[in-house]
Amino acid sequence: MTFATDSIVALSTPPGRGGIGVIRMSGPDALSILRTMTGSESLDPEPNYMTLRTLYDPSSREVLDQALVCFFKAPRSFTGEDVIEFHCHGSPVVLRRIIDAVLQLDARPANPGEFSLRALMNGRLQLAQAEAIRDLIEAQTDAAAQQATRQLGGEISHRLQPAKEQLLKIIVRLESSLEFVEDDLPGIEQEQICRALDKLRDDLQSLANTFSRGRLLHEGLKIAFIGRPNVGKSSLFNSLLGHGRAIVTAVPGTTRDTISESITLDGVPVTLIDTAGIRTTVDAVELMGVERTRRTASDADLLVVVIDGSQSMNAEDKLAIENATGKPHLVALNKSDLPDFSQARVDGNFSSAAAITVSAETREGLVDLRAAMLKPFVNGNGAAEGLMITNARHHDLLLRAAQAITSSEQLVRESASEEIVLVGLHNALRFLGEITGETTSEEILGEIFSTFCIGK
Ligand code: GDP
Repeated sequence: MTFATDSIVALSTPPGRGGIGVIRMSGPDALSILRTMTGSESLDPEPNYMTLRTLYDPSSREVLDQALVCFFKAPRSFTGEDVIEFHCHGSPVVLRRIIDAVLQLDARPANPGEFSLRALMNGRLQLAQAEAIRDLIEAQTDAAAQQATRQLGGEISHRLQPAKEQLLKIIVRLESSLEFVEDDLPGIEQEQICRALDKLRDDLQSLANTFSRGRLLHEGLKIAFIGRPNVGKSSLFNSLLGHGRAIVTAVPGTTRDTISESITLDGVPVTLIDTAGIRTTVDAVELMGVERTRRTASDADLLVVVIDGSQSMNAEDKLAIENATGKPHLVALNKSDLPDFSQARVDGNFSSAAAITVSAETREGLVDLRAAMLKPFVNGNGAAEGLMITNARHHDLLLRAAQAITSSEQLVRESASEEIVLVGLHNALRFLGEITGETTSEEILGEIFSTFCIGK
């Protein structure tokens, strides 16, 4: 590992006005920069304690701010280097001036995620933990934040450790038979190795399977409501949101634009999109809305086709159904509170299992609708417990490791030479190491850390 020779600085709190703003510096020059900024070259701050200091501009000696200053001494800091934090007054002007002053000294602006990258390089963090910090900062729901916190504690590495050890054991066994034994592996041992590989593969595969839900926590879902005007799309949308965002009127065709709002369904961040409806119209503005609906519908993860269950299905309803065909969708048979409502409206067009009876007015069936909206995306019962893979990179590496193990097992069964079997097993070990960062190339690290925010 190479140690950085330069010092970096960045604002670590969000830009804008606030009670305080935190500026972070890391690198070999951090302490000398602090000394210059405080005008006391002999300053020897006690690590991990905050002290109130006056900060000066190094060239004009003007007072910049009074700030709480904390020194974290290498290697016991976030990055493993000397780190200084300035907790300043949260004025964008003050913060800008202090950063400019630091930049006049021996520091340069930090790149996105560079503090975390240095932490990784100095062995203070594993890659999966650094990614968890990013995910925690970006979490949109409680469940996503909980998962990120678990991963931040190194749970992925702990979970993978026994698999890595087991893999290593098998590798050592095969390598020693390569060195010392002329003959093939005895049949009984071959069987043992195959069973161990089987178990390993299943374990990695089951961890990889948690991604179907973990991805949702991280990325969320886009769900669009489509259907002819006046079936109650806006009303259903509002009932799910719990407040009156979309305009609801008795005149067909009033929702002329798409409106989107975020809600949380069982921990999953969901963007609900209320569309203008799909129908034949000559009104220019409404036509634009209809066009937008088609586009929205084409990139939604799920379409909810809303049908008015108190009226007969007409050509426009059938058009909406046609538009949804071939994409993940479900039917909400709305207005179940009206006397003319009939479940039979959708017969012949949908299997009844796909249609959810609901009333936007009385909220009857809303719980079922919420559950049905999530169901196509969640494996099994979808319990939001346990460690989940939330990162596509980790998922991909787990699948690759599982695949490499499967191929090697096949080769063992075919009594292939140990050398060939070992190639796949070494690859599997490398894929697992890439999750935690032990075997990740610099190019990939660069890519990962470029998705971090500046100051992290
Ligand atoms: P959209 O054009 O599909 O968005 O339909 P709206 O949500 O604007 O609703 C059209 C009309 O149907 C309004 O008068 C709503 O009050 C009414 N409506 C919507 N949902 C229900 C429902 O579940 N029951 C009853 N009785 N009326 C509803």
